[in-house]
Amino acid sequence: MKKLLPTSTAGSLPKPSWLAQPEVLWSPWKLEGDELADGKKDALSLALYDQLRAGVDIVSDGEQTRQHFVTTFIEHLSGVDFEKRETVRIRNRYDASVPTVVSAVERQKPVFVEDAKFLRQLTKQPIKWALPGPMTMIDTLYDNHYKSREKLAWEFAKILNQEAKELEAAGVDIIQFDEPAFNVFFDEVNEWGIAALERAVEGLKCETAVHICYGYGIKANTDWKKTLGSEWRQYEEAFPKLQTSSIDIISLECHNSRVPMDLLELIRGKKVMVGAIDVATNTIETPEEVAETLRKALQFVDADKLYPSTNCGMTPLSRRVANGKLNALSAGAEIIRRELAAK
Ligand SMILES: [Zn+2]
Repeated sequence: MKKLLPTSTAGSLPKPSWLAQPEVLWSPWKLEGDELADGKKDALSLALYDQLRAGVDIVSDGEQTRQHFVTTFIEHLSGVDFEKRETVRIRNRYDASVPTVVSAVERQKPVFVEDAKFLRQLTKQPIKWALPGPMTMIDTLYDNHYKSREKLAWEFAKILNQEAKELEAAGVDIIQFDEPAFNVFFDEVNEWGIAALERAVEGLKCETAVHICYGYGIKANTDWKKTLGSEWRQYEEAFPKLQTSSIDIISLECHNSRVPMDLLELIRGKKVMVGAIDVATNTIETPEEVAETLRKALQFVDADKLYPSTNCGMTPLSRRVANGKLNALSAGAEIIRRELAAK
């Protein structure tokens, strides 16, 4: 990106109410068959339009064609039985009934490649495409086949790499892997989590990103955040190894969070997508509030490597609130661009 401080979102945007009930996770589709296929494309176009209208520089599909950022990808793979469910603890935080891995996992056909081609046709802006990360994927399943978290993550990394290469060929500029699990399983992150992520990006020529956050603004996450104390130092665990990894961009939650900003010094040299929009509140930030978070980040991130973004996906918000937040993000970034130009 030539433009200083290019803005983007972490990925998801609310869906139109005619496609799925807004402000709910795993919201069922309201259409079927061909109508659903067309409806998803229309929603993707609208999500792009909302981003362009707000002046977002690096655009996404708003994750309009997926019910959930992890589940939808896994649904397209073989080896996972969605009828056979077990209750497991997700990210050590809440119990959920999850599908079972019953045989070798494989990607029989592309998952999002047609959607990416469609988005590519609609815009010349740089496109970022989000995929779930290997460690976050294994954490939403019961594994009755590999019986090893590391082995299953490695298999998913190979599958993600196949998908990523086809997304790159479809014209995606940045491929992002969502790894909220990196904020929870510190030993595994360092033992094999980052290695699995690097396997997922192997051979890619486009830019790559990893998004690590404290989750959507749902109750299980906000309750968990209350237990984390006055300073959230979770990023400290993965940063040293990420700094030396082959991942180009690190996407983080910074606004209204208790993450000490000086932790960003540990990834100096990497591009950083700084979350300057809180997705856990309906209050729309003022441009100055966004600018203030970016100013703090600039103490530890070089200006040419700072990418203003959102803390996480905005799928659980209303469209009105999400659009307001996109506008605030653009306006806040513009304040800082002007300040930098005046120096
Ligand atoms: Zn997130």
